[in-house]
Amino acid sequence: MINRKRYCIANFKMNLGFQSGIMNYFSDLNNSSVRNNSSVGIIISPPFTVLNQSIALSEISKIDIDIAAQNVNDNDSGAFTGEVSVRMLADCGIGHVIVGHSERRAYFNESNKEINKKNQILIKSGITPIFCIGETLDQRQNNLTKITLKEQLTKGLNGTGNKEIIIAYEPVWAIGTGKTATSEMIIEAHQMIRNILNDIGFDGEKISILYGGSVNRNNAKELIGLEGVDGFLIGGASLDAKHFCDIYKFIEESV
Ligand code: PEP
Repeated sequence: MINRKRYCIANFKMNLGFQSGIMNYFSDLNNSSVRNNSSVGIIISPPFTVLNQSIALSEISKIDIDIAAQNVNDNDSGAFTGEVSVRMLADCGIGHVIVGHSERRAYFNESNKEINKKNQILIKSGITPIFCIGETLDQRQNNLTKITLKEQLTKGLNGTGNKEIIIAYEPVWAIGTGKTATSEMIIEAHQMIRNILNDIGFDGEKISILYGGSVNRNNAKELIGLEGVDGFLIGGASLDAKHFCDIYKFIEESV
């Protein structure tokens, strides 16, 4: 297992297709002053339809960029219309996949069991899961944050072994709402996650834990300075390459 590293990860969700932006996005990245080094990983997660083009663009990019998928099916192959397997992603050269995003848990009823299968199948194939966990507002208000995180981590990582994984702590109520969690909440949750990881047989100190939830270029500098925060998973603000680069620079300055 390698030591923890900082990351700046974009999640485009159902935005930025080929005509509608991915070409311009890469050209904005290349025209920016960002020239990354190995201490901060840049990963972007475009929709499935442009994964191949994104990989091709990343290969000729002046910046070192990894491409992630936003989802994967938990079966090897078969009659699953509309789904994409781990093998297919590996064939494209995908190195990371977002798993357990709260939108998938909420809108596609993904259970911890299904998420666990995805984590297992990815790790077995040498692809790193970007494993999202986080409490709803209701859970936080009812003092269920720790229990929720513990359940998501314990069930989601069951049987995966102490392998390469990136965790994204994303309080559900902070995603796409413009409301970030307070500094105290973020520090406390990241420490809680590290303790839980240690309790369930992982080395919490070696696992990168990112924060996600309405990160933008105005709050990134403060958030990256918080103890235990190893970078960000960014939705809305990542859709503009210039904003994404500004956020990246704050992470790089913090190393
Ligand atoms: C996300 O979707 O993972 C996310 C953090 O979104 P946003 O940055 O828009 O809150």
